[in-house]
Amino acid sequence: MADSFATLKASAAEMAAGSIDIERCRDDFPVLNRQVHGKPLAFLDNAASSQMPEQVMRAHTEYHSRYHANVHRGVHLLSQEATEAMEGSRETLRELVNARSTKEIIFTSGATDAINLVMQSWGRANIREGDEILISTMEHHSNIVPWRMLCDEKGAELKVIPVSDDGVLDMEAYASMITDRTRLVGIVHVSNTLGTINPVAEITRIAHERGVPVLVDGAQAVSHMKVDVQKIDCDFYVTSGHKMYGPTGIGILYGKQEHLEKMPPWRGGGDMILSVSFEEVLYNDLPYKFEAGTPNISGAIGMGKAAEYIMSVGYEAIHKKEQELLRYAVEQLQSIDGLRIIGTAPEKSSVVSFVIDGIHPHDIGTILDLEGVAVRTGHHCTQPLMERLGIVATTRASMAMYNRKEDIDQLVAALHKTIEMFR
Ligand code: PLP
Repeated sequence: MADSFATLKASAAEMAAGSIDIERCRDDFPVLNRQVHGKPLAFLDNAASSQMPEQVMRAHTEYHSRYHANVHRGVHLLSQEATEAMEGSRETLRELVNARSTKEIIFTSGATDAINLVMQSWGRANIREGDEILISTMEHHSNIVPWRMLCDEKGAELKVIPVSDDGVLDMEAYASMITDRTRLVGIVHVSNTLGTINPVAEITRIAHERGVPVLVDGAQAVSHMKVDVQKIDCDFYVTSGHKMYGPTGIGILYGKQEHLEKMPPWRGGGDMILSVSFEEVLYNDLPYKFEAGTPNISGAIGMGKAAEYIMSVGYEAIHKKEQELLRYAVEQLQSIDGLRIIGTAPEKSSVVSFVIDGIHPHDIGTILDLEGVAVRTGHHCTQPLMERLGIVATTRASMAMYNRKEDIDQLVAALHKTIEMFR
């Protein structure tokens, strides 16, 4: 089974890539030094929320202690500094995903909010009765529920691309499912449950041949791999700060300017207008047209710092480190009797979901916690995927750039202990 993972073989590029100075890197994340139930913390729940480096915390504190003020409207120095920091962050995030312009980067409260923005604005303006929206079986609820809601409202159909037993998207089925009625393809870049990396550029190319726009859910991608929205050529791309070493409550929507220009605003209020009378409202230019009200300023600044942190470490080094951890975790976990890995696609990020015969994942998670190991258990907000795979839940270990083989050893030792207890 191990050989079926292409990821188990280190590529030449990986071997040539720079390395992470792991001790220095871990020093940036103070939480990693804490004890949990008297044990050293092995934090393997990064797909839910990764930890924040001190650089991000400092940027956050600095905003609050030196220049806390509202943005865009103030003429005083503090407001100008806050505006500069927030807009600087937008530029850093533009660079991170290689958007053409900061007009294409909209701050949202997260990936979920960004998808809802597209649904409420683009979706409600463009979807009509009888239209079809195409998503995949491995979508997070965030990329299912908004489209289900829209289809119910409009009388449109939600169609679902199948996945194989090992968690690979069926590309042949996908191509054949695009019809003259398809109006949008929504696809997850990296599955939070399986770790599968989907070929989003190819998916976009196929959709564009038929004139269909594509939204990519990149919540699980941006911390692990270089995302280039121009190369992918997708129409929309969403992600969250807290999944890429940044704060919670902040995220971005990337949208091609040509779409964003045509889309009506979703939320109304201050900052998204040029002028207001009781009779008429003139909307602001991009990106502010979609940012009504006072934004999450400290969150935006923190997310920009997190992006800077990722770029300073470098994606090559991150990829090399995380693929090593993935290989090691797969090898170690496969040696455990009765353990089955869920999601064995050839292209995977550093996520390993598994089930163990006769032990419920919640029991596993509880015992692992007592051993200092933080993992996630449950359906991971992918209930339709669970149903497709014939399981109710998994235990998921997800690795980040700061994890070590020792964390996986701690996980494996705790799993052996768990199995002993249930025998
Ligand atoms: N999409 C995927 C693939 C995710 O893993 C998640 C969070 O787990 C989301 C979307 C939603 O992200 P958020 O809760 O930050 O909006």
